[in-house]
Formats: sequence, C-alpha cells, structure tokens
Amino acid sequence: MPAATMNSVLGPIGPDQLGFTLMHEHVMVAASGLYQAYPDLLGQGPEAKGIEALKKAKAAGIDTIVDCTTFDLGRHAPLLAAVSKGSGVNILNVTGWWLDVPRFMQGVGPNQMAREFVRDLTEGFRGTDIKAAFLKCAADIDGVTRPLEVMARAVARAHRETGVPIMAHSHPATQLARRQIEIFKEEGVDLTRVKIDHCNDTTDTEYLKWILDQGCFVGLDRYPGRITSPAMRTLTLKRLIDMGYGDRLCPSHDCICVAIHNERPDGTMPDTHAYFDHNRDQYLYMHRHVIPMLKEMGTTDAQIRTLFVDNARRFIFGA
Ligand SMILES: [Zn+2]
Repeated sequence: MPAATMNSVLGPIGPDQLGFTLMHEHVMVAASGLYQAYPDLLGQGPEAKGIEALKKAKAAGIDTIVDCTTFDLGRHAPLLAAVSKGSGVNILNVTGWWLDVPRFMQGVGPNQMAREFVRDLTEGFRGTDIKAAFLKCAADIDGVTRPLEVMARAVARAHRETGVPIMAHSHPATQLARRQIEIFKEEGVDLTRVKIDHCNDTTDTEYLKWILDQGCFVGLDRYPGRITSPAMRTLTLKRLIDMGYGDRLCPSHDCICVAIHNERPDGTMPDTHAYFDHNRDQYLYMHRHVIPMLKEMGTTDAQIRTLFVDNARRFIFGA
C-alpha cells in the first residue's frame, strides 16, 4: 500500500506535489553542531546562499530534492526549513547515519539507535517539529565496519517498524552493495524499498544489474563526479535504460551548496567553497549537461520523465 503522505521539512506532502525530483542532494554538509557553534566557517550568509541556489533550481523546473545530510554530516533542520520556504523547493531530509560514528558512540546497539531514528521519523528532530522522511546508512572503501554495521541494522529495524525507504551510501569499486544487501536480507528488509547510492562511480553494468536484480533502486547520483567522467556516467545510465531498468534508476548530483570555506595558504579567504568550484552549475548540471546528452542518444521525453518523476514517486511513496 503506497503511503498517502511523506514528511517534507515543511510538513507532509502527497505524491502529486513531488514533481521533478533529485533523489540525492545536500543543502549543507559540515559536521554535527557546526552550524550553531562555528557558523562563520560556512562563509557569508549560508541560508541566503541555499535559498539562491534552490531558487535557480525551482526556476529550471526542479520541484523536490532529497537532502541526504544526516546528523554526522551536520544536519540543521531549521536551515532546511528556511531554505525550502525561501526557494519553493520541497526538501525531504533523512535520518540514520553517514560514515562518521564518534568514538564515544561506538558501543551503541542497533535497537537503541533504531528507536532514535523512528522518533526522528514520527516525532521530529528533538527540539523541532521537523520530521525525517527517509532512512540512510553508509559504508565506503573500508567496508561495513562494526560501528557502520550497527547503524545499518538500526536503519533496517527502523524501516521494518515504519515502512519508510532506505538509501545506502555505497562503494561500487569494492562491490560493497553485496555485503550491504546481505545485511538487509538478514534483517528482513523489503529490497524494493532500498536504493543503493553512488552507483555511477562505476561503469560496471554487470555489477549494477546484480543490484537491480535484487529488486533495489540504483542511485546514479554523482554529477559531474570524480574519477569516472560525466560522459561515461551518462553512457552507463543510458545503457541501463536500454537493458530495461529505466524504472528503477535515480540520477542526481550529490550537490552541496553550503560548506566550509577553506583558508588559502596565503591566509586570504575565498568567496566560494571547494564543492562549488567543482560544480558551478550546482543543481542545474542535470538540465544543462546530462538530459541534453541523454536526448542526443535517443532517450525519449517519457523515459526522462520516468527517471525524474515516476521513479521518485514510486520509491518514496511505495508501489
Ligand atoms: Zn551525498
């Protein structure tokens, strides 16, 4: 049964309000508590910067973004609410964990963390009435380490209790989804409610086909990205569409518009941060570069709509 509504940072929204959706983005990436403790590290006017970037996205036809910033990535829910309000873009935020489990948290267990994540989804982030929409867990080049396995199992258990979908930050070069999916299976997760992210860091369509054949969605969510070229990323996307998997692919940027500005070696401060310098198109890269290339390769408007509208709706609200 599809969910009737899903939590955005400004309150519940229905499937018809989703529209054109980017499934893996960020407004801000920092560190837990940094926005309150050291806001000046984030440059001039972080909130205005977020609103400006997402206003441009809205004008280009982007209706919704999923903000994948967890607690350990520095989530500040009131910032997301202000940016959503100021830009008109729906923002869905996540609970769960990314890669940074602090030393003094390494003894926590999956059931106690699951309870906290469920509260983020059902009651809201403590001290606010802003609720998470999704669950997220992560592992990378070091594999699913013990603390990250606790978080993955906690996320799986919170999913079992609430039915909300899971996104998993993954590392395709080591085919890490094989282990992540094994954990989800042990925990009884519905794999059609799982999205394995960062899958366009590889061009290995045999491995990606294996993930898709488990029933999962695949996030092709790094643009322009590093190591793999943007053009190879789009060729891989097209190849997966041609293999018949167009209804479970989610292209996105992993864009960050507010981040720490780093002092230059000569002591001066730049006006922009490294992520901006890497992707000056920000949330518009897809419209300016990827969609035109897909069309050039013969992808139809209906197939593009499936990628950015239908897949998001089906993954977020359930089939
Ligand atoms: Zn991300």
